[in-house]
Amino acid sequence: MRNSIGGLFVAWATAAAAEPEWRAGAAQVVITPPAGAPLAGYYHARNAEGTLDDLYAKALVLQDGTNTVAWVTLDLITTTFSLTREARSEIERRTGIPGSNVLISATHAHTGPELTDRGRRGALFSDTTTATNAVTTAYSDHLPTLIAEAVARAQAQQSPVHLSAATGRCDQLAFNRRFYLQDGSVAWNPGKLNPNVMLPAGPTDPKVGLLLIEPPHPPAQLVPAVAAFVNFAMHPDTVGGTQFSADFPGALSRRLADYHGTNCVTLFANGTCGNLNHLDVNWVRQQSTRAEAERLGTILAASVFLAEKSLRPVPRARLQVRSTTVALPLAPIAPEEVTEARLTVRTGNDRTRENFLKLVKAYQVLDVAAREGRPLEVEVQVIALGNELAWVSLPGEIFVELGLALKRRSPFRQTFLAELANGSIGYIPDRRSYAEGNYEPISARCAAGSGEQLVEVAVKLLEELAVRPANAAP
Ligand SMILES: [Zn+2]
Repeated sequence: MRNSIGGLFVAWATAAAAEPEWRAGAAQVVITPPAGAPLAGYYHARNAEGTLDDLYAKALVLQDGTNTVAWVTLDLITTTFSLTREARSEIERRTGIPGSNVLISATHAHTGPELTDRGRRGALFSDTTTATNAVTTAYSDHLPTLIAEAVARAQAQQSPVHLSAATGRCDQLAFNRRFYLQDGSVAWNPGKLNPNVMLPAGPTDPKVGLLLIEPPHPPAQLVPAVAAFVNFAMHPDTVGGTQFSADFPGALSRRLADYHGTNCVTLFANGTCGNLNHLDVNWVRQQSTRAEAERLGTILAASVFLAEKSLRPVPRARLQVRSTTVALPLAPIAPEEVTEARLTVRTGNDRTRENFLKLVKAYQVLDVAAREGRPLEVEVQVIALGNELAWVSLPGEIFVELGLALKRRSPFRQTFLAELANGSIGYIPDRRSYAEGNYEPISARCAAGSGEQLVEVAVKLLEELAVRPANAAP
């Protein structure tokens, strides 16, 4: 008589052997510039005086036996189109991984260096002296080499892996930073315990995406992990000051390494956090410190650890990548605004709030004018692991309303959103927020409706890549 348990085991073992094998490797390379380099992040020039904690380019390479993809996360304010182009071509040259199979995103750390190809504001900040300009240029020119080095090392580390994914939750960490005031207007970062604040003007996205990459091991055993990919939406603008720091994603990485081993590379892709930050207006405590970044990273790590109880294996499946280029309309500007903007940028650098918004508008006008009517050409990229998990790259600081809509409509069980990915055009608010005004809509280089257009494109790509069961109707 046949032993049914043994029979099941044989059937399981045969099926597992017939499937393609996931192979992966991960690596990180320090990308901290020397002291003296201009910092990005704010509307005033400041040069770095040292390093609190290092900035990294982190790479994960994954292959299904046929296709290979690479993810790169950077502890930087943004990615740029030129950086993406040059890094992809250098990666392709060194590793053979097609540039189109590489997703590069920035964590949006506000205590990282200024980069070239960042529009008028970036150019001015690294141009206070010829020497600082040269530092920014040299740094930006060398970055693609460092990024390719991280990917090459990750590729060299490749070995068979077990993938598992989970969705966790982290409430009360990120807040919508736009609020309705008593007078009906919408405020941006209105300050702590402001009596005029009525309600947040939008939601947050408390979901924490987790993909854990480990060597094959008995399920009951904790083994040193290869990498953890974490997706959460919150502005990393906590540390401030004039020293380099990776902000809370750095702290998150250190906490995960405490549990998953010092070789575990934590890649953090920021979700749609255009209007989300860590400031709790109902909490009196000052929240712009190095210690605060540690607090945030620790809480986020705790939500990852909790989510690990619901990790489920990602079945071996086809790895697919698809990208499309989208032309987004420019925000409308009037010719007389250009003259005024030039004057404002030359003279209006004091830091009152009224002048701040004038300055924000001036940089927006000058960047839009420089396009001479050409639409903004951006990329949306989708990477899919079977039907289980998909990544969507989005080219700017995306409002959370758009991200939530995208996740709701995604046919995948779990969808990671990486903003500031493969280049950036700055803020991309949703249509309603354009109408409500204030900082981000004033700053946005693209016209209202651009965000919704990106969501449509992304959903279409996701639907194309979602694998239908063989017997399902098309
Ligand atoms: Zn931002």
